[in-house]
Amino acid sequence: MEKFDIVVIGSGPGGYVAAIRAAQLGFKTALIEKYNSLGGTCTNVGCIPTKALLDSTHHYADVQTKFAKQGIEVQGVHLNFKQMYARKQEVVQKNTQGLTFLMQKNGIATFYGTASFTTNTSITVTDSNGVITVIEADKFIIATGSKPATLPGITLDKKRIISSTEALALQEQPKSLVIIGGGVIGVEMASIFNRIGTKVTIIEYASSLLPTMDRELGKALNKILKKEQIDIVLEQSVYQVDNLGDYVQVKFKDKAEHEQQIEADYVLLAVGRRPFTAGLGLENTAVTLNSKGFIETNANLQTRASTIYAIGDVIGGAMLAHKAEEEAVFVVETIQGQKPHIHYNHIPNVVYTWPEIASVGATEDELIQKNIAYKVGKFPFAANARARASMDTEGFAKVLVDPKYGEVLGVHIIGARAADLIAQAVVALEYEVTAKDMFSLSYAHPTFSEVFKDAYRMAYGLPSINI
Ligand SMILES: Cc1cc2nc3c(=O)[nH]c(=O)nc-3n(C[C@H](O)[C@H](O)[C@H](O)COP(=O)(O)OP(=O)(O)OC[C@H]3O[C@@H](n4cnc5c(N)ncnc54)[C@H](O)[C@@H]3O)c2cc1C
Repeated sequence: MEKFDIVVIGSGPGGYVAAIRAAQLGFKTALIEKYNSLGGTCTNVGCIPTKALLDSTHHYADVQTKFAKQGIEVQGVHLNFKQMYARKQEVVQKNTQGLTFLMQKNGIATFYGTASFTTNTSITVTDSNGVITVIEADKFIIATGSKPATLPGITLDKKRIISSTEALALQEQPKSLVIIGGGVIGVEMASIFNRIGTKVTIIEYASSLLPTMDRELGKALNKILKKEQIDIVLEQSVYQVDNLGDYVQVKFKDKAEHEQQIEADYVLLAVGRRPFTAGLGLENTAVTLNSKGFIETNANLQTRASTIYAIGDVIGGAMLAHKAEEEAVFVVETIQGQKPHIHYNHIPNVVYTWPEIASVGATEDELIQKNIAYKVGKFPFAANARARASMDTEGFAKVLVDPKYGEVLGVHIIGARAADLIAQAVVALEYEVTAKDMFSLSYAHPTFSEVFKDAYRMAYGLPSINI
């Protein structure tokens, strides 16, 4: 039997950050991971591999669509799909190796095996050879994450009916791909495959892409992706998917019950993710689940068992790596007796299409629903000098500002490098900065960030000053 102060179950961004913070604060810490590589969904089959492929395919698309205009004539460009995937895997490996090193450096005991609670203060860890280790701890942090969800009556056979996980391990480039779901994962996957010549169709149930983000972002992305030849069908519900051996058949219908069907090499389900608690032995603890299967926690992210906390995808909310990381630090510091805080409304959302999309704070629909007055400042990338220089003129930055005091309420961008630009907006929201403060800052010229200066000026009622 081994005994620790804090045991973290799951080594995704929630788990590994929790373990590192716990070790930094002097707790005797263990990390348990079911698979033989650390990093969880994000590092192995999520954030990192998708961004590697998005970058590769972005370069490939640029060679074809932008280089000639810039006077760079390239002949004989062709895609080496296997090499693209091999590089992606190298990137993943570098990250997982980095995590193994960090565990050693911080003196964290790492166990590879499946953790299962036997009581509120003890677990067994069963490794791949069936060897069982019993571990006790004062506190446990569950960070077991999520798995791809599916639709009623549709089974992920992982052969032709696949999730993002299998899409990231394909051995061949699909000629055609149907993606069910036009949320973040769906549109990122659509971009990856469309850029390399796969015929992509997105089928989405809602009336716009990215239905949980500010409505204008999904609308603008729809136009851009359609221009890139992605077929997008909205307000459709898929009711049957069949693997017919060499291809799949997808049947769907609209609200008026008009039925359609489409065939493709593969169908990728990107309809969200479900919490993962299977095999955790929660029935042996006081931990409770809500009706959707997420672990229930209080404001301190503590479950009904006072010794057990839970963080990340497994407790719901925004299923984002950096949300899990924030919760990891929050829980460990809370256990130590500190009084940390998380502003969930200030956690940014990013979509790595091109142009990128990023958002923080309230959407227009949320402000309307809550009857909160606001002013809009919106500035197009087409009017930004840096964007023109790099041929990245699509998109806009939109800021929502309180009309009386000028406080920034929400920022929504679709445009080049939005993923990095959003950091400034997070600062504005976190420190309750006003639009006037924001446009009074100096912005380097020419930079994409200047779109903010103008958007804030416009929200304040002033004309733009940049080109
Ligand atoms: C394709 C894709 C792209 C994404 N891109 C982004 C992005 O760009 N940015 C972003 O912020 N988010 C992204 N996400 C979401 C992000 O990956 C998750 O929000 C994040 O990984 C959640 O972290 P977590 O620590 O809660 O759980 P996870 O990362 O899911 O880790 C959970 C770990 O727990 C382990 N585990 C489970 N049960 C047990 C057990 N009983 N015993 C031991 N170990 C166990 C699992 O094996 C896993 O390693 C993406 C997700 C996907 C699928």
